[in-house]
Amino acid sequence: MPTNAATTRWWHTHAFALRLAGIFLTVMLSILWVASFDRTPTGANIIWLSNGLVLAYLLLAPRWRWPQYLAVAFASMFLGSIFIGETPGMSLIYNALNVLEILVGALLLKRKSTELPHFTDGGFVFRFIGLACLLGPSIAAIPFGIFRHLANHEDFLNTILGWISGDGLGIAVVTPTIVAILENRMRNAYLLRKKWLYLVMLLAVTVISFQIASAPLLFVVFPFLVLVLMQIDLGWAALSTLAVAVIGSWYTVHGRGPIGAAPHIGHQWKAAILQLYLAALMFTLYAISVVFGNLRKTQSELRKIAALHRLVVDNSRDAIILGDLDGMQNYISPGVRLLTGWEPRELANREIRELIHPSDISEFEMAMRALRAGSEGGTLEYRTRRRDGEYIWVEGSLRVYRDPGTGIPIGFLNLVRDITERKRSEENLQSAYRAMESLVVVDALTGISNRRRFDESLATEWRRALRDGEKVSLLLIDADHFKRYNDTYGHVRGDSCLKQIAEAALDVVLRPGDLVARYGGEEFAVVLPGTDDMGAKAVAEDICQAVRNRRLPHEGNAPGIVTVSIGCATIVPQRGKSPQDLIEAADQALYRAKGRGRNRVVVAGVPSRLETIELPVEVHEVRQEEHGNG
Ligand code: GH3
Ligand code: MG
Ligand code: MG
Repeated sequence: MPTNAATTRWWHTHAFALRLAGIFLTVMLSILWVASFDRTPTGANIIWLSNGLVLAYLLLAPRWRWPQYLAVAFASMFLGSIFIGETPGMSLIYNALNVLEILVGALLLKRKSTELPHFTDGGFVFRFIGLACLLGPSIAAIPFGIFRHLANHEDFLNTILGWISGDGLGIAVVTPTIVAILENRMRNAYLLRKKWLYLVMLLAVTVISFQIASAPLLFVVFPFLVLVLMQIDLGWAALSTLAVAVIGSWYTVHGRGPIGAAPHIGHQWKAAILQLYLAALMFTLYAISVVFGNLRKTQSELRKIAALHRLVVDNSRDAIILGDLDGMQNYISPGVRLLTGWEPRELANREIRELIHPSDISEFEMAMRALRAGSEGGTLEYRTRRRDGEYIWVEGSLRVYRDPGTGIPIGFLNLVRDITERKRSEENLQSAYRAMESLVVVDALTGISNRRRFDESLATEWRRALRDGEKVSLLLIDADHFKRYNDTYGHVRGDSCLKQIAEAALDVVLRPGDLVARYGGEEFAVVLPGTDDMGAKAVAEDICQAVRNRRLPHEGNAPGIVTVSIGCATIVPQRGKSPQDLIEAADQALYRAKGRGRNRVVVAGVPSRLETIELPVEVHEVRQEEHGNG
């Protein structure tokens, strides 16, 4: 016994040949079958099946296969016609017209090889009825009508109407049926097992309503046909319509049933009425199937969107919270479980601020107030409490959402992300930065030592001098009227002036143990270890002179050039005193230098034993001769 896979493979390799054989057989059968029951006394057919059959094959095949299909179909139709008694000449003419009719529909409906028939698509059904069911048969009917008129003197209009209605109806009923069969949609055995009853009911109702000639009950067929369409599909519904057509034709042709036995209606009209009835059935099916097709399309698109939405929400590591503007959480995505350990339902309809760290609440409420006041949203970092009581850092991306109808803000969307790791690395970065900063001892602007280096150096020298009983001197240098300098020349030139002052001081201070540092702003400090007050004063005066010598113009300063004031202090370090005392003494001297007119050195008279004398400041002033031109 061949396996399933082997069967499928065999089926695939021989699919085309099977289809050709299928088309030959079905066309032949349909012709013989129709001829056996459905011939009105005028010779026209109520429903002509073979053209719709061939059209279905063509619509599903690529265009380059059409010649083979059409050749086989033509051969079958030709032989079929001969079997039912046409002469070869007539067969040739009729079937050439049949092929023409099929081709018109096929060419206009399938403009590309990839285009497939969709009987649930409104646009397609509209074109199918217009082009394949009406235009194709009309084009073929005209030469047929002319021929019959010339050959048999038949009424032209009657002839062509007979052709158009029989063929059009056949195409309308058969094509969707065969398309469904060829697309394998009829194999839905599972559906059939459950729903065969609908088919049986339909057939029974059809037979009964045709059987009772005394009352026009044919309308009863409609709901049952619609039931088949809704419960099974269009393929089975179209096949059922075919069954109705066969049953109806038989009754009508034999003069029975509500149409066939109607006493005051002529024969040709009976056929037309049956055709109209069948067309109405088919049209109903198409209309419903299009409406349902659209509905199903929308539904499946919605389902796709919903599935995508679920996928994103369920698998997002961030928690998604929807809340109202009072801060009440209405929806919480499953992501919250991973983030905080809470179940979404435990947090639903609770206030979001309940879990926020007390010190972050005010910031959060400020953000909510901003949302209420019309802000679109923003990001916010806060700590939220996990189920285990621990707080974690999160980033909330808040966004307001509005009522789609009115545009009024009705709530907020909060995308919550765990940023514990980021916070940790930020803190690490911060402390690394602080550590690095503590290693920096050079002032970026002037390139001399910075304040940190100054503090360290003064402390070191202080301890050394304390040990050795030596003196330490300190100069505090301050640029005169430097604010005005900036105001006049701008900050950039102010900066370069500060560099010049630093260089001038460096030029003067030459001993290896000495240190020139930027004390802050436009102030500099010089530590002179092992230097007494007279030495310090000399260095200070040299620095004053060196700055003046640079002759940097300064309109806002009385001498017209940049000058500095210097306060000097000297101390022999003692236990119980600190470097701060030295700095204060130098600062007081500097203050006096400023008070006495700037551009000068003032030495603080610091007695050698600070602990015995309370007030250190007996200041004696050294006047600088006012700066001249030379
Ligand atoms: P005084 O003679 O009394 O010292 O007058 P002053 O204007 O120098 O006084 P003050 O100490 O109040 O002003 C210091 C000014 O120095 C303030 C600021 O404009 C300027 N300054 C401080 N640091 C810098 C700096 O790094 N660059 C520049 N360009 N200017 C600075
Ligand atoms: Mg200053
Ligand atoms: Mg100053």
